[in-house]
Amino acid sequence: MSTGSVYTTEWLKKRVIEVISKQFGKSVKEASKKDMYFALANVVNSEIREKWQNTNKKYNENGHKQLYYLSMEFLIGRLLRNNLLNCGLLQVTEKVMEELGFQLDAILEEEEDAGLGNGGLGRLAACFLDSLASLKYPGHGFGIRYRYGLFEQRIIHGNQVELPDNWLTEPYPWETRKEDEAIIVQFHGNVHMFKRNDGSLEFKYENTDKVLAIPYDVPIVGYQNDTVNTLRLWSAEPIYYDKVDSLDDMFFRDLNHQHSIEQISGFLYPDDSSLEGKELRLKQQYFLTSATIQHIIKQFKNNYRLPLTRLHEKVVIQINDTHPTLAIPELMRILMDEERFGWDEAWEITTNVFAYTNHTIMEEALETWPIDLFKNLLPRIYMIVHEINERFCKRLWFDYPEMRERIPNMAIIAYGKIHMARLAMVGSFSVNGVAKLHTKILKEKVMNDFYTIEPHKFNNKTNGITHRRWLLQINPKLGNLITELIGPQWILRPKQMIHLLKYSKDRTILEKFDRVKNKNKQTLANYIYEQTGIKVDTSSIFDVHIKRLHEYKRQLLNVFHIIYLYHELKDNPNLDITPRTFIFGAKAAPGYHIAKEIIKLINSVATKVNNDPDVKDKLKVIFLENYNVSLAEKIIPAADVSEQISTASKEASGTGNMKLMMNGALTIGTLDGANVEICELVGKENMFIFGLKAEEVIAFYEQGGYDARDIYNTDDRIRRIMDLLNDGEFGKQSIEFKDIYYHILYHNDPYFVLKDFESYLEAHELIDQTYRDKYTWTHKSAVNIAHSGKFSSDQTIQEYVNDIWKIKKL
Ligand SMILES: *Cc1c(COP(=O)(O)O)cnc(C)c1O
Repeated sequence: MSTGSVYTTEWLKKRVIEVISKQFGKSVKEASKKDMYFALANVVNSEIREKWQNTNKKYNENGHKQLYYLSMEFLIGRLLRNNLLNCGLLQVTEKVMEELGFQLDAILEEEEDAGLGNGGLGRLAACFLDSLASLKYPGHGFGIRYRYGLFEQRIIHGNQVELPDNWLTEPYPWETRKEDEAIIVQFHGNVHMFKRNDGSLEFKYENTDKVLAIPYDVPIVGYQNDTVNTLRLWSAEPIYYDKVDSLDDMFFRDLNHQHSIEQISGFLYPDDSSLEGKELRLKQQYFLTSATIQHIIKQFKNNYRLPLTRLHEKVVIQINDTHPTLAIPELMRILMDEERFGWDEAWEITTNVFAYTNHTIMEEALETWPIDLFKNLLPRIYMIVHEINERFCKRLWFDYPEMRERIPNMAIIAYGKIHMARLAMVGSFSVNGVAKLHTKILKEKVMNDFYTIEPHKFNNKTNGITHRRWLLQINPKLGNLITELIGPQWILRPKQMIHLLKYSKDRTILEKFDRVKNKNKQTLANYIYEQTGIKVDTSSIFDVHIKRLHEYKRQLLNVFHIIYLYHELKDNPNLDITPRTFIFGAKAAPGYHIAKEIIKLINSVATKVNNDPDVKDKLKVIFLENYNVSLAEKIIPAADVSEQISTASKEASGTGNMKLMMNGALTIGTLDGANVEICELVGKENMFIFGLKAEEVIAFYEQGGYDARDIYNTDDRIRRIMDLLNDGEFGKQSIEFKDIYYHILYHNDPYFVLKDFESYLEAHELIDQTYRDKYTWTHKSAVNIAHSGKFSSDQTIQEYVNDIWKIKKL
């Protein structure tokens, strides 16, 4: 049997054979890859289970302060490789699978990606959970178990087609349903007010719609350290009544009723950065926060035997963007209506436990809810938010007379709407941005009013990524090379990667880095061939642009550059350019018309370019469908160039930039989000920086002075590209891309694509030149890798712990 973390191949082989036989009634010879996946998950789970129980027991016994990380999204990706690695089982498993005639990589592909997120925000939450467990911190995630995740993307005739992401058709082996820990969440109904004998007020709710929140727990396994934390995902289910009037009644009520309730955890909203004001979305938010806060209070009472006035000593709650902000009034509700605290005491307790992370400064992404909708769905919560607002506005009026005219811009309820970011700031003791530049813009611009009155709340926590997944797991060749050069300590202390600098001018070592990259490019080239039937040249520059499709991320700028290069080559077939393979991966929100047009444009340009014999050795454009964590894991190790070209000031941080840098890609980017900090570390000479700065963009927005038509009229290169959108070169009809054309010229190019084009071209010309010198390129690449340890989420988590959470390691 297994003792500690040392597993033998004999032991594992025996276990696998046993499970295959017991669970599937098969011999290993008869087992499919899928059977083997479930068998391995089963073995890993039984190894995890004891550690999981022990971790929970220790947290409870020692009275540790707990972090609760609330997020509407957790983009965790596949777990089998991660859990094998973190349990210390990966190498043995590789051997055993080989001996049994299987390939581990192929078995891993059998796992469904848990697509419980849209993009960066959800992936951040997943990286944080990994770092918390790996650093032995008592921190747990709380989210929703969406029945359908983000849609599955297909590209058909160049268009994005959305298929439902039915990720739960087969059992999900990592989750455990905990029916006995279910919690009731209430919506709608009426609120009645009574006076108690002591003169205090009592609130009773009647005729509410009650929904059961059933927890499904997923273990979060720390890296070879016996710590297993929990990601708790709530699922909505009806409560069955025992009293029914008639069979008909039961049948109809139950079917409709059941359906409307299951909707609550039915699907993930596929909208990344502008939120629809849908009642269902608000329901989801309250469902998550109410279930979680009720659970936290129960746990606190069971484990600590302390008065709730001391809640902040044992509990800290981080809210990931404004989506879980209802947790604040929900805690107030429980403290007042159930625990009978007065307002002031309840408010004191509440504002000592919440911390809020802001993820965007884009106006259209700052959440608001219409009062009527809110009030009808959550009558008691509305009363509380109303009172929070009254008291806050009074405080502004009396304590900050100089701010009086700013009150309409600061009020939580204003002009018929409830402003969630304002509620989050008022109800939290900490407000953080996610990169230095982003936090600066929050303080100086977007949230300046709040910063003026409560500067002590504001702090920065630059995002990070787990280097265990994004390097060690997805790029084992690079991981091994790093360990060979500087020893394995970097795995626990990623900042030690800085010691790679001393090899960054060593030609023999750089050749090793280059060989790793080439092998990874070959692997990706094979995948591209399987997926698309297109052969790409591994000696070409792999230029990678992977992220959600959004105008501010400027995939359009990239396409304009490709069209430009294509024309240059058509005009002059002997033009000496370094061959390029442009690789895209991106989903557009289904209702985001222009984003979908841009996807169509990329695919149309790809079709044209890839089939033109004139440019065949120099240019290829690849769009890989269904961008998700698993696809990112395949692309990133093979990237030479990382496109991080958002309109400056728009990308709060970015984490794709960090993943690509860590795998040796050189960044072409604007000084936006965390690119600024990457640049501070590696130096301008090891990146390709271009374009407007954030202050310049903001100044144009505030003062005007930019006219896209001027550029269109004066720059022939741009006019040629723009006119093509209208003349049918890339479409079946001449009107194919007119929407993009009009969008830019009639809305004055709000993301400065035309304005930054020239500077972007120059940066690309420099890339072309630099890549010709393998030594220089690989040197820069190694410098980037060496500095990337700074962006490990271990680092980020440590800063949250020190400045905000104040929790202790097990
Ligand atoms: C990292 C990641 C993102 C975020 O990428 P950005 O470039 O920071 O926008 C989005 N989706 C997936 C699947 C990721 O892994």
